[in-house]
Amino acid sequence: SYKVTRLIFLPVPGHFRVEEAIVGPFLKEGQVLVRTLFLSVDPYMRCRMNEDTGAEYLAPWGLSECVDGGGVGVVELSRCDGLSVDDMVTSFNWHWQTQCLMDEKLLQKVEPQLVDGHISYFLGAVGMPGLTALLGVREKGHVTDGANQTMVVSGAAGACGSVAGQIGRVDGCTRVVGICGSDEKCRVLVEDLGFSAAVNYRQGDVATALKESCPNGVDVYFDNVGGPISDAVIAQMNNDGHVILCGQISQYNKDVPYPPPLCDETREALKSKNITRERFTVLNYMEKHEAGIIQLSQWVREGQIKVLETVVNGIENMGVAFCSMMKGGNIGKQIIKISD
Ligand code: NDP
Repeated sequence: SYKVTRLIFLPVPGHFRVEEAIVGPFLKEGQVLVRTLFLSVDPYMRCRMNEDTGAEYLAPWGLSECVDGGGVGVVELSRCDGLSVDDMVTSFNWHWQTQCLMDEKLLQKVEPQLVDGHISYFLGAVGMPGLTALLGVREKGHVTDGANQTMVVSGAAGACGSVAGQIGRVDGCTRVVGICGSDEKCRVLVEDLGFSAAVNYRQGDVATALKESCPNGVDVYFDNVGGPISDAVIAQMNNDGHVILCGQISQYNKDVPYPPPLCDETREALKSKNITRERFTVLNYMEKHEAGIIQLSQWVREGQIKVLETVVNGIENMGVAFCSMMKGGNIGKQIIKISD
């Protein structure tokens, strides 16, 4: 039974190592040489550390191969028609290298003026995590302006959660309550991002704190974490509510499939209260990404959405930054600055 305590495999910085190598030797037709400005570490990467990633769209990282993920940088040499020297580009498949050769078809050009020159935002609030928040809320949240809804966000001080809660407010939720792992994060959510209240799940009883913060129950739940926190939220959801099943990070170090199985009580609560809980994957909405990026950048420039980042310097710290993010060391998007 899945109730048996599962094995836990914690990632540690020693799982990563840096090697010096020379890029090249030659640029092929259709390739560019890029200099990396910023790299991203993301929870899904934990799944890429397993031979079976649990998701058909995620390939495992190969042992001793160069790791890849989200990155943004500048074109230094080009042998393709669509990209010129000094263009800013991003990719989901950026090698963790200070410079790399990349095929044009893996790159998207980005416009620095969209983010007032804050290039790292393309990896966070105006990139994949921001789109996850926007499309998750819009596609699965059923937020209706004027309907007096309460939204709860778990993982609320992270890259997706911090944006999702702010979009809940912009889209008309009456109350937006965040759940996160420290008092400092709670303070930032309420004082800086305009959340109605925040709950530190590491202190006291989550159910009791939620009852106080959500006197009218919960209508929309943006779930980044799963596990007991989500059980506590779902127990307080109203009839006909909606769970946005974004992620389940509390289970990623365990040997369980995705999405991990729910306990009987939670399954029963979903059924008896007619709550939807559909799996959401941002990559299933590629056709909505371009408009989404424009929308997010506009909100950020107008100040409707505030951006939080935790920035670490140096490619040698990628493993440290990844492991720190997995344990909650970040407020907002965890970014690694690679070069100026
Ligand atoms: P975050 O910036 O939110 O970083 C991860 C955070 O998770 C940490 O800061 C930590 O914050 C929290 N966390 C770690 N372990 C636990 C735990 N055991 N219980 C509760 N919280 C925990 O990452 P992202 O915003 O990039 O990702 C958030 C979620 O969204 C992940 O589950 C990810 O897989 C998912 N995701 C889904 C996508 C989709 O298409 N469906 C796309 C992108 C992301 P704290 O201090 O609060 O513990």
